[in-house]
Amino acid sequence: MIPAAFAYARPTTVEEALQAIADGGEDVKVMAGGQSLIPVMRLRMAAPETVVDLVSVSEMRGVRDDGDALVVGAMTTHHDVLVDPLIAEHAPLLVQATETVADRQVRARGTFGGALAHADPAGDLAAVALALDAEMVIAGSGGRRTVPAADFFVDYLTTCLEEGELLVEVRIPKLRGEWGVRYEKFNRVAQAWSIVAVAAAVRRENGHIAEARIGLTNMGSTPLRAQATEAALAGADASAAAIAAAAERAAEGTSPTSDLNAQADYREHLARVLTRRAVSAAAGL
Ligand SMILES: Cc1cc2nc3c(=O)[nH]c(=O)nc-3n(C[C@H](O)[C@H](O)[C@H](O)COP(=O)(O)OP(=O)(O)OC[C@H]3O[C@@H](n4cnc5c(N)ncnc54)[C@H](O)[C@@H]3O)c2cc1C
Repeated sequence: MIPAAFAYARPTTVEEALQAIADGGEDVKVMAGGQSLIPVMRLRMAAPETVVDLVSVSEMRGVRDDGDALVVGAMTTHHDVLVDPLIAEHAPLLVQATETVADRQVRARGTFGGALAHADPAGDLAAVALALDAEMVIAGSGGRRTVPAADFFVDYLTTCLEEGELLVEVRIPKLRGEWGVRYEKFNRVAQAWSIVAVAAAVRRENGHIAEARIGLTNMGSTPLRAQATEAALAGADASAAAIAAAAERAAEGTSPTSDLNAQADYREHLARVLTRRAVSAAAGL
């Protein structure tokens, strides 16, 4: 399929990009790597009047150390994430999840920010952003605002980004203390989307679990935190029995769909099993 005709803009700064969006007419789409946008345009499920290509906005690409947090530009590709030493040191959970995303070709073009802005509940990186308490830095005509990941994902393929706004960068607080992390993904074949996945970050203190943060992929219309399991783990023994009991609550508060890949009750089962595995590994068991 061939997309409908569109005007094309290729800004080089965030300011130029915002201007190009404002000037682009009724229906403007920004393009990161085009990995989700181009297929949708080819199917004519989207037919924007203007495409604003962010590929030359270099200030939106790369990773920097900002003291207590890493700042990852929205245009940082999945490949860039996988080879970045700062992310390897301070956000290994993001590395583990990104390794499971698609194949080399998609990882070479697809971006961290594009994946988050696309907000597919089967996407692997949103659950990681939730588990790491990331913050989204959003630019618009009125300036910049920062939104916690917990408030960014609003519904299926929907974020809190308003028309004309850009996700510019993502702040990922560094984990301080005795943290372990693990991303557990269940898919039918290698390199496929998650049927369910779990991103776990666990802080241990004196043989106990002081804090657990658990993001769930594909257990509802948005990525979710496994809040009942997190609450059950706070202060619990770092033992296999305590983790298994807490993981039994992983599907509470979720609303997975049934589709050709899995029924909802099977997804709930997967959430419990993968949470037990992810938390056990993150806790060092
Ligand atoms: C074959 C295939 C397999 C895949 N498998 C997986 C997988 O296993 N796991 C997984 O997590 N993902 C998977 N993906 C998705 C991949 O992770 C891409 O990152 C994702 O499709 C987004 O692509 P992109 O960065 O090129 O964004 P684009 O396709 O360019 O944009 C996606 C959407 O986000 C908007 N957007 C992009 N950037 C911004 C921004 N900075 N600010 C505001 N809005 C923005 C665009 O307007 C568009 O609506 C797969 C993709 C493909 C094609």
